[in-house]
Amino acid sequence: MTIAKQILSIQNDLAHTHAKLIAVTKTRSIDELNLTYQAGILDFGENRVQELVEKQAVLPKDIRWHQIGHLQTNKVKYIAPFVHLIHTVDSLKLLMEINQQAIKNNRIIKCLFQIYIAQEETKFGLSPNELYEILENPIFAELQNIQIVGLMGMASFTENTDQINKEFNSLAQLFHALKSNHTAHQAGNVAWEELSMGMSGDYILAAALGSTLVRVGSAIYGARG
Ligand SMILES: *Cc1c(COP(=O)(O)O)cnc(C)c1O
Repeated sequence: MTIAKQILSIQNDLAHTHAKLIAVTKTRSIDELNLTYQAGILDFGENRVQELVEKQAVLPKDIRWHQIGHLQTNKVKYIAPFVHLIHTVDSLKLLMEINQQAIKNNRIIKCLFQIYIAQEETKFGLSPNELYEILENPIFAELQNIQIVGLMGMASFTENTDQINKEFNSLAQLFHALKSNHTAHQAGNVAWEELSMGMSGDYILAAALGSTLVRVGSAIYGARG
């Protein structure tokens, strides 16, 4: 199957849901990214800053670049000039640095809080309590050059669909609680619009549970080498 055909088939799966496809292009060649762009995809996700920056430099400028991997504070400056959405904010310290770099670039950078939903120990992210602590911190309300637009999470890597559904459901419920609570946790820099959940193995489950952004790599390009 070609890249274009795979993309069409995934978009077909996502029809009648609210989920938009982000092509996860980490480890893929510039040729593969160009084919993806030619297939009409404008949202690209990368997990390593250096790779993201190198690819952004040589690909069409209307591509929206998503940082989907763990982000170190000292790397924020490299993506701050152009990044479309940072999915992996997991501390106030990181958010403060994103705000600083956004000020330097005279822009507002959109971010998602990464929430820990999996049973596995290896995944990054905040607990709901840690999230509320950040939202209630007075420093947070002063960050004028970031905008929080939603949440991101990764389910356990398992075949157990009950488990995956449970984890996605917990994230969706947290998202809806934040969204419907119009008084608390609604500083000027917050708009609860995006729910980034779902990868190659579980994007159909995620879309059914209200995902707005699915991050899909191997279902488009094949297994990573
Ligand atoms: C690699 C990656 C994906 C895509 O994974 P696939 O299984 O190839 O679809 C999605 N989200 C994150 C955070 C990733 O690192």
